[in-house]
Amino acid sequence: MRYKSDYESINLQQYRKTYRFYDEHHIGLQGLNERIRIRGANQFWNIPGLEFANAKLLNLPDGYYLAITTYQNKGGEKKKYKPEIGIDMEIKTTITTSDGRKHKVLIEESERIKKCQRLIARRKKGSSNWYKARKLLQRAYQKLMSRKKDSASKIVNELLEHERVYMQDENLSGWHKGLFGRTVQHSVLGLVKAKLIKHERVTVLSSRMPTTKYCPACGKLKKDITLADRTYECLCGHREDRDIHAARNMILLSQKHTCGTQEINAFGEDVQRTQACKTI
Ligand SMILES: [Zn+2]
Repeated sequence: MRYKSDYESINLQQYRKTYRFYDEHHIGLQGLNERIRIRGANQFWNIPGLEFANAKLLNLPDGYYLAITTYQNKGGEKKKYKPEIGIDMEIKTTITTSDGRKHKVLIEESERIKKCQRLIARRKKGSSNWYKARKLLQRAYQKLMSRKKDSASKIVNELLEHERVYMQDENLSGWHKGLFGRTVQHSVLGLVKAKLIKHERVTVLSSRMPTTKYCPACGKLKKDITLADRTYECLCGHREDRDIHAARNMILLSQKHTCGTQEINAFGEDVQRTQACKTI
């Protein structure tokens, strides 16, 4: 028997017609007589006023999933946010916040993936054993992706507890080349960034804003700082962890920019700087 084709998903348009919950652990699907045991409904089971809408039955490499759309009344309560925060993403392994926290953003590729890749290389392409091995590999990749997504959402949710998030517009695609090539593959930074950029409480600052160079103590720009310098040290004596320094400057500089020309002088006579100010 040769492998033919897969259904990857089935749409279940209407709750109670195409699918329904019997209880927290069992669902019914249209066309099937038996109740199907599920896991994971505890995430939403006790949320008051939750309404189910359409769903999608997914055939993923590691099993079947039901993705459900739900509606919820948001209520009139206003959320209280923490104060604004700047985030630095210059080192590809870590996100540093202006309040001095560091989030690790690397998810290591599992041993299992490497094993599956070796296995698949030994099989004859198109043979049923090759398909089996490929399925195992897909499953391992899906697990990795789930871990990445999970880690990214946790970081994003934590950052968005703040009233406003400042980040800098860095060239993500550029990271794939050079220095951080392999690291970037395993980084969830791209996922985090993609989620943040879309959010209304996130301000993306121009990449030309000198968040690394600017000294908040004396207002001068330190021009000779390189990627290897992990500590910012100004001639005036100001000293700080490079990433926290940059993250703090994001808040500081974005505020200065809205205050008019007088503040722009704080950047010294740097022409590039002045142009950058205008674009914001
Ligand atoms: Zn200084």
